[in-house]
Amino acid sequence: MSVVGVLALQGDVREHLVALAEADALARPIRRPEELAEVDGVVLPGGESTAISRLLATFDLLEPLRARIKEGMPAYGSCAGMILLADTVLDGRPDQHQLGGLDIVVRRNAFGRQVDSFEADLDFTGVGGVHAVFIRAPWVESAGDDVEVLARVPESEDAGEAAGRIVAVRQGHVLATSFHPELTGDGRVHRLFVDMVRAAG
Ligand code: GLN
Repeated sequence: MSVVGVLALQGDVREHLVALAEADALARPIRRPEELAEVDGVVLPGGESTAISRLLATFDLLEPLRARIKEGMPAYGSCAGMILLADTVLDGRPDQHQLGGLDIVVRRNAFGRQVDSFEADLDFTGVGGVHAVFIRAPWVESAGDDVEVLARVPESEDAGEAAGRIVAVRQGHVLATSFHPELTGDGRVHRLFVDMVRAAG
């Protein structure tokens, strides 16, 4: 069985552990480099990307995690996790560390400029219809040629500036969503990620 770690420094760790277990993975929290060494894939939870980035440095996980992702370990980031995986962040803090791995430009708190939370029904490539919950979420402003766009906010009257924005992407072994499938009890995105971890193993 695939062993998938959830970075457990801050954020909605427990919800991801539950979703991964339901997707038939052995799910474990990660707080130390020794724990990272034992997993086949990692989830970066939603939370606050600036706090998680600071804690990554404090807990000596920044370099080891960067290195493992670069070597091909599958990674999935939701919301704050997407921000950490992006190569470029707009509206970030100047001292915010990036793990990188995704050739995207994300805008932090992009939806938050309109409202703190936002919900939409998306068409997610390879998954189907998904009800997405966004909480002070980033969106992807641009994506490189090697990035697969998996979902966008549909055009609708209440979507405002968010209409058409990219909110789910994949680049090889790295997956990211602006929204939180771990909060809606819909296990299909975690299942997709666990399949990616299995395929990489
Ligand atoms: N606004 C948060 C950040 O910048 C992300 C919010 C979330 O993960 N729900 O990190």
